[in-house]
Amino acid sequence: MHNAAVTADQAAVPPAPLLSVVIPIYNEQEALPLTVQRLRPILDSLDITYEVVGIDDGSTDATPQIMHKLRQEWPELRIVRFARNSGHQAALTAGIHRAFGQYVVSIDADLQDPPEKIPEMLSLAREQGLDIVYGVRGDRNTDTFFKRRTAGGYYWLMRKLVGKKMPAHAGDFRLLSRAAVDALKSLPEHQPVYRLLVPWLGFSSGEVVYDREERVAGSTKYPLSKMLRLALDSITNFSAAPLRLATWLGAGSFLICFVLAVYTTVQYVAGATVPGWASLFIAMLFLGGVQLICIGLLGEYVGRIYSAAQARPAYFVGYDSADERNTVAPSTAPQYVA
Ligand code: UDP
Ligand code: MG
Repeated sequence: MHNAAVTADQAAVPPAPLLSVVIPIYNEQEALPLTVQRLRPILDSLDITYEVVGIDDGSTDATPQIMHKLRQEWPELRIVRFARNSGHQAALTAGIHRAFGQYVVSIDADLQDPPEKIPEMLSLAREQGLDIVYGVRGDRNTDTFFKRRTAGGYYWLMRKLVGKKMPAHAGDFRLLSRAAVDALKSLPEHQPVYRLLVPWLGFSSGEVVYDREERVAGSTKYPLSKMLRLALDSITNFSAAPLRLATWLGAGSFLICFVLAVYTTVQYVAGATVPGWASLFIAMLFLGGVQLICIGLLGEYVGRIYSAAQARPAYFVGYDSADERNTVAPSTAPQYVA
């Protein structure tokens, strides 16, 4: 009896598609219809089985309704909705973990990454048997000066941390093979930073160069605070080097202290030791500052160790249209207006 039920369940599961396209989506009501309009003909013309996994990262605008409507005309579009906004990287994680495809391409919802490059990525991976194909930005002219500068600094630092394996200016537009996806899924990280973890895997990789286009509609969902958070997460995820700063500052202070001790002794012997307010004050401020910086750095790591120990999931999925046995409580189920 029991066995028969299992077989029936398995029979209901459709075969895995060749390609999964993962799109993190947060409040993209303006951009999403345009993205789908451009993406769908490209995928249809490939003549392969595919699914498009749209991760609705807790959008508060009309995005859920728009997605639901789009799905009615495009059954390959799968909707995964988070219970609340959990961030771009969390949405990527959910997409990569839930995708069924033999190859998984992640792409932004705002058409900054051209979907026309997806066939190129796929054929490169299939022809050369590659596990990873990075979308590398050839030109960032459409980004603001500030974004280019901060991104330049970020990638410079990341290449120092991860090594030259990391292509410069490879964002989250990339293709992963099933082997790479399984490797990423096996990592214990709760808040992975994929643009670092993927190169770190060291799997065979290729590159497809593209020009970053302008956001097709709407405004950026990455304010400075989220950019800073990503940068801090990236550094602490991959390096304990900042902690060593304390050691170096300590050693430097000790050397200066040694020189000053000799100087002070000489001054004492010469009988000129009364003035000294300025030097004392500066030394006190300097050491106070150094200590606070070091404690702050320790705090960054301790905080991350703490949240890793808590092991809270980075996101909660409220709904997945691919879930046959949907067990969402009615109160958390998305309210679609068809
Ligand atoms: N995004 C998301 N959750 C967030 C912020 C952004 O899923 O909390 C998605 C967003 O919808 C887009 C992608 O992540 O598809 C990149 O965001 P955005 O284009 O705003 O960033 P930018 O290109 O300006 O760096
Ligand atoms: Mg964008």
